[in-house]
Amino acid sequence: MRFGYSDTCLAHDPGPRHPETPDRLRAIREALKRKHGVEYVEADPASIETIVAVHDRDYVESVEEFCAEGGGNWDPDTTAVEETWDAVRQSAGLACWAVDAALEGADGRETPFSIGRPPGHHAVEDDAMGFCFVNNVAVAARHAIDTSDEVDRVAIVDWDVHHGNGTQDIFYDDGDVFFASIHERGLYPGTGDVDEIGEDDGEGTTMNVPMPAGTDDVDYLAAIDGPIATALGAFEPDLLCVSAGFDAHRHDPISRIRLTTEAYALMTDRLRAVADDADAALAFVLEGGYGLDVLAESVALVHETFDGREPIEPDGEVSDRAAKVLEDVADAHDLDLDRE
Ligand code: ZN
Repeated sequence: MRFGYSDTCLAHDPGPRHPETPDRLRAIREALKRKHGVEYVEADPASIETIVAVHDRDYVESVEEFCAEGGGNWDPDTTAVEETWDAVRQSAGLACWAVDAALEGADGRETPFSIGRPPGHHAVEDDAMGFCFVNNVAVAARHAIDTSDEVDRVAIVDWDVHHGNGTQDIFYDDGDVFFASIHERGLYPGTGDVDEIGEDDGEGTTMNVPMPAGTDDVDYLAAIDGPIATALGAFEPDLLCVSAGFDAHRHDPISRIRLTTEAYALMTDRLRAVADDADAALAFVLEGGYGLDVLAESVALVHETFDGREPIEPDGEVSDRAAKVLEDVADAHDLDLDRE
């Protein structure tokens, strides 16, 4: 697997007590050292024009200015230093590289993974939020539609434990981008209810699966195998992007979802099958994940899944609470899920 990476992303340092630390990337690279077939690519930073295709130009200029003046707290969670601006553009550029690389593979497609930071999925059109300044996956999805003859429709599956509110907002009325988020209900930023399904041309192309605290691997797989795979099968994307946060892991310090490391191999395997069935290119873009060891192990397991490792199926039944959420999602989207 090729990983989009740049040291420029390490220089964005929000401080010693901040969970979104440059050590996240160092831990991932340390874990990947021991793995077979890892390559790194340093892509160009995203141009301003590429970024303003999804963000408000005045907002983007205000982030640049904020960093040029030395940064500080944009809001209580979201902190910049002078170097943040270059990291922001680099992180978006790496995400664009990932979708370009996914689309290029002429003889057998590759699946690239962009490990930029700061993350992106909370950034809305005209504001930074939740450690995010520019919405990397949204910039990359729009870039693919705008620049590739092969791409009319993009699907984004966001398995970060937090709702990808920024990505949802950017594409809420856009029928060319299907956004599906599986997240912990009630966690930051509080959005992502089942009935948020998009509007106007985008009605039906936003799907939210808000899982209760305590949800485990079996429940998450049921969400992917059920409503998410069914909806994406009908949507037929040309490109599938995974907003890959790893903070739903049971050992992540900031959530109460109970995924094991293996869940990330299983979800990767399922989404690869969804992309194959749709003949869609597939690219991964890093979002959150704050338990350094489990973040690194989980990213490494995504890589190993593409390197030929078979994921191990979990035992157990879907919990009643998760099953109820999946039924509500199916109802909100008029899906007829296969019942066994
Ligand atoms: Zn998160």
